[in-house]
Amino acid sequence: MRALVLALLCAAHAAAQEPSLFGVKKSPAQDATAPSSGVIGASPSVAVPEDPEDTSVVISPFRPQKRPEAKETRVFSMAKLNRPLAYETTKELQRLFTAFIQQHVQEATGRELVPAPGPVTTLEYVVQQDLGDGRLLVKANWVASGDGLLPAAAEAYAVLMPEKSKAVGEKGQCVVTGVGMVSVRFTPTFAPLAGRRLTLRREAFIECTLIPETIESQEKFMEFVKSGAELSVITAEKFPCKACGGLGFTREVQKGKLDDKRIPCTACESGKVTMRIETKFTP
Ligand SMILES: [Zn+2]
Repeated sequence: MRALVLALLCAAHAAAQEPSLFGVKKSPAQDATAPSSGVIGASPSVAVPEDPEDTSVVISPFRPQKRPEAKETRVFSMAKLNRPLAYETTKELQRLFTAFIQQHVQEATGRELVPAPGPVTTLEYVVQQDLGDGRLLVKANWVASGDGLLPAAAEAYAVLMPEKSKAVGEKGQCVVTGVGMVSVRFTPTFAPLAGRRLTLRREAFIECTLIPETIESQEKFMEFVKSGAELSVITAEKFPCKACGGLGFTREVQKGKLDDKRIPCTACESGKVTMRIETKFTP
């Protein structure tokens, strides 16, 4: 994934410009004095009607991607791997690594693993329009993400930032990470919307490189941890319920009867509670 992503996620922009995930929003004053208005010396305070000739593109975050937060944190120490009584077993490491590769992607150089900004999925697309700055408006199909945070879609317009530039009309398929919904203000150049200045609210994706689920890849991951990389994974873990002692029900003594009455526990499901845990890997 391009280093650009990090730059996009940081809101470091010039004072007169409104920061946006995919570009820089012009201030109204800048819009009013833009050369496309064709009026020399127009007052910046005068409201300018929608100009069909205005082909500027403004993309701003509408609903950023949110991951559910972890309730608790624990440590997985590589040094304790397969030590007697340690929970750090090879089996547990494999399970956590499988979850890890669904939440992380490879940085372009392959020398770093970075958290995916959002759900990871596979996109099939046709380029509709080049919005500039490496952003494309595409018509796409995608499958639901493994973490359940992104539903599948068919024939949907979306914004895509591919790793290499693509021509209008070009078809492609790539692995992407979602960065949430964005608001795109632009003038379409394709039928049936051509020429109409409009604002679309669409999912935005960045092409990325998956971490392969292989033994070599897991070993590389362990090397990253041993050399000090701060990596963690969030998983939903099941624990015995404290309220009922893991039974799934509580007992109530019944006068004159041999059997207790069983009252289903309202705090759990069959004696187990599910909690989101962040596991931090340490050397
Ligand atoms: Zn319970």
